[in-house]
Amino acid sequence: MINIFKKLERDRHALFVILRKEISSKQVLDAMERVPREEFVPPEARGMAYLNIPLAIGSGQTISQPYMVAWMTEALGLRGDERALEVGTGSGYQAAILSLLLPRGRLYTVERDLGLFENARARLAQQGCHNVTAEMATDALGAPEYAPFDVILVTAACPRLPDSLVKQLAVGGRLVAPVGPRDEQDLILASRTGEGLSVSVMGKCRFVPLLGPEGFEES
Ligand code: SAH
Repeated sequence: MINIFKKLERDRHALFVILRKEISSKQVLDAMERVPREEFVPPEARGMAYLNIPLAIGSGQTISQPYMVAWMTEALGLRGDERALEVGTGSGYQAAILSLLLPRGRLYTVERDLGLFENARARLAQQGCHNVTAEMATDALGAPEYAPFDVILVTAACPRLPDSLVKQLAVGGRLVAPVGPRDEQDLILASRTGEGLSVSVMGKCRFVPLLGPEGFEES
C-alpha cells in the first residue's frame, strides 16, 4: 500500500521546485508553503493535493491549480495592509493564502454556492484566518457594501471585465481577473488610475464561469 504521507511529501517537494522556478516573490512562496492544500480538498482528493492541477471540490466547481494561485497572488503585489476582495471563495484555499499576505489588512471573500461557502468558512476559521470576512454573494456582484478595495481578485471566468467590480476598486487599486469566453480566458491585470483604467494581459488561463450579474448564462 502506498503511504499517503510519503506521496504527499514527494509531490509537495516536486511542486515547490516548479513554483520556485516560476514565482519570484518570497512572500508568496512562503504563504504557499504554509497553507496545507490537502485541508481544502474533498477527502477522496487528498492524495492529489500537491499535484500541480485543479481539483473538483463539488457543485461542479474546482480549486485552482497551485501555480495559478501563486501567479495571480504575485500579480496583486500585496504590501500587507490592503483591503482586498476575492470573488469566488470556492474551497477557501486562495483566501487562506491571501489572509497570510494581509497581516495588517482584511480580505472579503464572496461565494454564490451555499454548500461551498459553508465548507470554506469552516476551513478558514479552522486555519485561524481571522482577517477574512467570508460571505454569501448577494444579487450584486462583488461586495459593494465593503468597497472600495485596494485589490480585487476574481477566481471565476468573466465574459468581460465587470463594470461593477471596477467601480468597487479604489483609485490606485489593482484587479486581477480571467476575462474571455467559457473555454479559455486572458488573465487580466487592471489598475485604476486617476484618469481611468490601465489594462494588461498576463497570459492564458481556464476558469469555471462566473454566474449571476455580469457573468455567463447558467447552462
Ligand atoms: N478561489 C477558489 C476557486 C474558485 S472556483 C479556491 O481557492 O478554491 C470559482 C468559484 O466562483 C466557484 O466556487 C463558484 O461557485 C464561484 N462563483 C461563480 N460566480 C460567482 C459570483 N457571481 N459571485 C461569487 N462567487 C461566484
